[in-house]
Amino acid sequence: MNKEEFERAIIDLSLTITPKIAEQLEQYASFLLAYNAHTNLTAIRTKEEVYLKHFYDSITLVKIADLSHGKLLDVGTGAGFPGLVLAIFFPNLQVTLLDSNNKKITFLKECVQKLSLTNVEIIYSRAEDYTRVHREEYDFVTSRAVAELRILLELNIPSLKIHGHFLVMKGNAEEEIQLSTPTLAVLSCEIIQKQVFELPKENGIRTLLDIEKNKATDLKYPRNYDKIKKHPLK
Ligand code: SAM
Repeated sequence: MNKEEFERAIIDLSLTITPKIAEQLEQYASFLLAYNAHTNLTAIRTKEEVYLKHFYDSITLVKIADLSHGKLLDVGTGAGFPGLVLAIFFPNLQVTLLDSNNKKITFLKECVQKLSLTNVEIIYSRAEDYTRVHREEYDFVTSRAVAELRILLELNIPSLKIHGHFLVMKGNAEEEIQLSTPTLAVLSCEIIQKQVFELPKENGIRTLLDIEKNKATDLKYPRNYDKIKKHPLK
């Protein structure tokens, strides 16, 4: 997807791409690819792929949520997807980018400084350590390509405010959704919206889920990562 195709696709999502946003995205893409040449951050190597598989894929979250304001936590953000793209599009959204890989955190700090973004906080931590302490704090939590849905639910739901939204990004998610039914019940959450669509240029199926939290999360969650992984909630 070249820049012109990206800008057209953004208009189709009913978003406006200002010259400032376009410039920040371009700086981000160039810096990511240059950094990736010496430090492995992403398997994606061309600008066209960055615009499609990182930028466009990240911004499709607007199909299920109004992200123009509020507080969002991106767990396992890697090189900033989807959180940093959302921060660029929505200056009034307060974005926390969290990852346990220090190499990615170093990249993110440099990138945020380069782009002069003032709505981004960067946290170097394991998700379970952070969300155990930062409880009922965020309007939105999201994670792309980090873990299976049952695991993500236990990691991420504790940090959501009551009536906050966990915005799930998956490929074909039918099996994971089935498996997570008991986990959703234990954590007092429900899927309130599901959208399935094709990424342009035959890049596969995408599933977005909006999961709402209905009650404060029991203090015993999240458990240690080993337990979450070996014995998903049911
Ligand atoms: N979300 C980014 C994306 O879609 O491009 C990165 C995906 S990458 C495959 C998974 C990321 O999750 C890695 O950067 C890894 O360090 C991070 N991660 C995995 N488990 C984590 C945990 N328990 N706490 C914090 N970060 C975690």
